[in-house]
Amino acid sequence: MNIPDRARGRPARAKLDGMGSSGATPGPPLGGPSAQGRQAGGTPRAALAELLAGNRRFVSGQPVHGHDVTAAAAAASGDQQPYAVVLGCIDSRVPLEAIFDQTFGAICVIRTGGHVLDRAVCGSIEYVVGQLGVPLVMVLGHERCGAVEAAVDALRSGVRPGGSLAHLVDEIAPAVTEAGLNDPAVHPLAIRRHVRRTVRTLRADDLLVGPVAAGQVAVVGGLYDLATGEVALLDPA
Ligand SMILES: [Zn+2]
Repeated sequence: MNIPDRARGRPARAKLDGMGSSGATPGPPLGGPSAQGRQAGGTPRAALAELLAGNRRFVSGQPVHGHDVTAAAAAASGDQQPYAVVLGCIDSRVPLEAIFDQTFGAICVIRTGGHVLDRAVCGSIEYVVGQLGVPLVMVLGHERCGAVEAAVDALRSGVRPGGSLAHLVDEIAPAVTEAGLNDPAVHPLAIRRHVRRTVRTLRADDLLVGPVAAGQVAVVGGLYDLATGEVALLDPA
């Protein structure tokens, strides 16, 4: 996948729809964070390039952000200007700032079981996009997601969990059904479908649909590989 940006003199506000394949996506060259992607109000493509560059630094074992107290103080000294918001799972193996090698103030992070949406999540994303001017929303799923496995188990057993856990299962269940409950690969298939469903829901959000249609904001789906640390983009579906 090619990611045009300002530095290469390409259209900066091109739509991201249809970008990438379901496989691993070659990101930008390795290197330190660039200024263009680390700014609220930038383009979706520049923000995505910045995010994926951070993941490549992480995968290569060459992160540049150590999360020290100096960086924290610098980030806290002015208004925040994050350039992306990432919605991911609570899984302890997928710490979002670390896998994208981001420093304080760079990205907003929301994590729920199986990156399930609710009003608080949607309101938070609406705030980040509408009030902070962030141009990129990434929904990041991951392999072997326990929340998706719980949804598969619930559908197979016919036993719906109690409490608020039922909300997670209910929200993931359609992706499991689409993937095919009896398919041997139901887990990985459902994880991908659930990411895509979440992306579609956010693109249709009342306060996001306009900026998305105008190309000012992009909502993309990604998948994190627990073994390699790589983030691959998923095609919209
Ligand atoms: Zn998970």
